[in-house]
Amino acid sequence: MTTGSGRTGTIGVVGGGYVGVCTALQLARAGHDVVLIDIGQPEKAASYGNSGQFAVGEVVPLAVPGILRSVPGWLLDPLGPLTIRWRDLPMLTPWLARFVLASRTSKVEIGSRAMASLCDRMHADYAPLLDAANARSIISDTDCIKLYRSRADWEAESKTWRLRERAGLQFELLDRAAIERLEPEMTEFSQFGVMLKGRTYIRNPLRMLQTLTKTFEEMGGKVVTGEVTGFDKRDRRVHAVTLASGESLELDSVVLTAGIGSRKLSRQLGDKLPLISERGYHLMLPNPGVRVNRSYTLGWAGMGIVPMEQGLRLAGTVELASSDAPPNFARAHNLLVHAKKLFPGLESEGVKQWMGHRPSFPDSLPVIDRASRFDNVIYAFGHGHMGVGWAATTGKMVTALQEGRPSEVDIRPFSLKRFG
Ligand SMILES: Cc1cc2nc3c(=O)[nH]c(=O)nc-3n(C[C@H](O)[C@H](O)[C@H](O)COP(=O)(O)OP(=O)(O)OC[C@H]3O[C@@H](n4cnc5c(N)ncnc54)[C@H](O)[C@@H]3O)c2cc1C
Repeated sequence: MTTGSGRTGTIGVVGGGYVGVCTALQLARAGHDVVLIDIGQPEKAASYGNSGQFAVGEVVPLAVPGILRSVPGWLLDPLGPLTIRWRDLPMLTPWLARFVLASRTSKVEIGSRAMASLCDRMHADYAPLLDAANARSIISDTDCIKLYRSRADWEAESKTWRLRERAGLQFELLDRAAIERLEPEMTEFSQFGVMLKGRTYIRNPLRMLQTLTKTFEEMGGKVVTGEVTGFDKRDRRVHAVTLASGESLELDSVVLTAGIGSRKLSRQLGDKLPLISERGYHLMLPNPGVRVNRSYTLGWAGMGIVPMEQGLRLAGTVELASSDAPPNFARAHNLLVHAKKLFPGLESEGVKQWMGHRPSFPDSLPVIDRASRFDNVIYAFGHGHMGVGWAATTGKMVTALQEGRPSEVDIRPFSLKRFG
């Protein structure tokens, strides 16, 4: 029900990772009455263990033409950036089939423009949230560098760099001498780098998330700790959510932002969407023993090296597997092998390992849309590798949907109808 003021009663946002918290904040800023419901185990969410990058200009979907030629080599390489848990193949096959279709040039062009529409607004849409939370100091103002082993390796990726350039990404090419000036302790293993202008990062993703959540509460938002297990559904509307405790929470509308947990919940609402977990890992080195001045991504290893408040975080890799399969921490330890080629002195005493779920659709775009069978439910999940950066813009798009007005960003590429 929309009241005369454009407000829509109590909105329940289910899932309090970056997408949920930023959505709750954007809705609250627009004057809505919002309840944020989360399981309350932040360290298990993708929003906890990521690299924290505001990845402006990252407009290249995972599925690109020719990717199928690279996959066998990656799978055979124990240190490669991608692995598949073969026993989960039957469950992954429908997603992989769509992934292959998404890698066609025409689809990549469309997908890349949609990614750019979210990246373009990243800093501007975060700005008021960071100011309200007084949280800018948690962000490093150094630009990230993407490293290559050689200039030839960079040139081999010229097609994807053209997409980034077209999207307006500003960058500076760095030869070995320039890298050495910026990072004296890095070896010669990498001979070439690209400094990505504006690609800053959050130095403590958990602290930032907690700070934003606190700000939401200070603005009058309510936080409920509990797992949503079901919905009270009648006449194309959800009237309440049921929690694992047995409690029922009456709501006027629902926004589903539960990351990988959205797969199960959206199925209960009649939408069978190809959402899987691209599992990622990190190692946190509390006393790395070397000085690292800024954050790096290593294209060949599909990982990042990120100096954070708690130490040096080595994060990344993609493992396609069922979300409830046990972690394979050998993947995490590969991160250290790669990082040591750049910083041989790295020390791992007291290392903490982590695995989390990137909620991913095959075309690297999230779903930001109304549920197909319930008029008062909005979906906002499936942000894959980009959920931290895209969260504030997603929140604004959800707010527009909730208020029944056009969003500043064209919402059509994020429709659930693209999956038929
Ligand atoms: C190694 C790694 C590095 C990454 N690096 C970056 C990066 O540099 N930049 C970037 O933008 N992104 C990055 N990402 C991706 C990013 O972390 C995710 O896209 C993002 O965190 C997704 O946020 P989310 O809020 O949708 O989901 P989540 O973070 O998974 O949050 C979902 C929340 O919903 C809650 N929930 C689930 N089910 C229920 C339920 N039934 N009831 C109540 N609550 C529920 C969970 O407890 C959780 O708190 C990275 C990811 C990984 C794994």
